[in-house]
Amino acid sequence: MSKKNNENANLKAKCRSKTEKNIKTCYYPGCNEESINSHILQKNGVLNKIAKDAHLWEIIVDEYSTERFVFKRKGLNKIFSFNCFCNHHDSSLFKQIESKTLDFTNYKTNLLFTLRTLYNEIFKKQKNIKIKECLIKENPNKFDIDETLKTINDENLAIKDLQIIEQKILHDLNSSDETFVFNYREIDDIGLCLSSFFTYDTTEEIEKAEAEIGKELDRYSEIFINIFPYENKAILMTAYEKIDKSKVENYINDFYNTDPKICYQKITNLALFNCENWVINDDFYANNVKGIEDKFIEVVNFALYENSANKDERKNFDINFYEKDFKDKFKNLEIK
Ligand SMILES: [Zn+2]
Repeated sequence: MSKKNNENANLKAKCRSKTEKNIKTCYYPGCNEESINSHILQKNGVLNKIAKDAHLWEIIVDEYSTERFVFKRKGLNKIFSFNCFCNHHDSSLFKQIESKTLDFTNYKTNLLFTLRTLYNEIFKKQKNIKIKECLIKENPNKFDIDETLKTINDENLAIKDLQIIEQKILHDLNSSDETFVFNYREIDDIGLCLSSFFTYDTTEEIEKAEAEIGKELDRYSEIFINIFPYENKAILMTAYEKIDKSKVENYINDFYNTDPKICYQKITNLALFNCENWVINDDFYANNVKGIEDKFIEVVNFALYENSANKDERKNFDINFYEKDFKDKFKNLEIK
């Protein structure tokens, strides 16, 4: 790494670590208490069920790597966690989903899983904004200011959209209204936990629609998804807003097809091309990742990183984490 690149990497790493600690107010509306570090999916009963020696793997940003991302094995206390609620709200709100047996037919159980996923998305966006602000402040000459300000603006708009969904979730939690459609099914447990949201509309579709009406779309259709071990299987749970039903239903139905292969292929494509928020255990790493780490990182850069080249996020490739030939197929996959 050249001296200049190394200085940039140092600065980015510094801003990144500073920022993480600076988002520390409880997300519950109106609460100003300090937030505690909590897990996106419960540490005890979910993450520890798939972990070996209390460790899991995730893809992290590494400013010193030329590819920007690397796989890292991390301890359970630190992985898949963020500063979310204060102690009071963390324990009072989520009591219902901290118990051993969960009732997935219960609307509020599903809402609570979705709420934590949503706050984690807001957290990640706020973190990104703060990192960019820190970079400009520390050394305005080193970074493309226009580009950086555009990212900050985009992230702020995305947070506003998420806050609209947040209000709907909180409204439903405190009433008998049901604004969302939840689905769940049992699937095989392969040592994967995923908690994320993604926009159903592809970049290509959004650009086309916006060109037609000559302005930005008022809203996108967002889908929330969780995958986690439960009893001896795993649960797949999806959520979307009722108003999007006719639009997204066919896409969602594939996840619930009686042929699990169709569901598993969808999950694989989703994890690789649409959601970066997942962790895996040692077995998953050995079976599906080891030796082809570069391919995963290539896909992250192609599909998930800022200004990525991928415009057709729902494209479905013939790859499947749940089958033995995944590594061979993925290794040779032409993604562009
Ligand atoms: Zn609070």
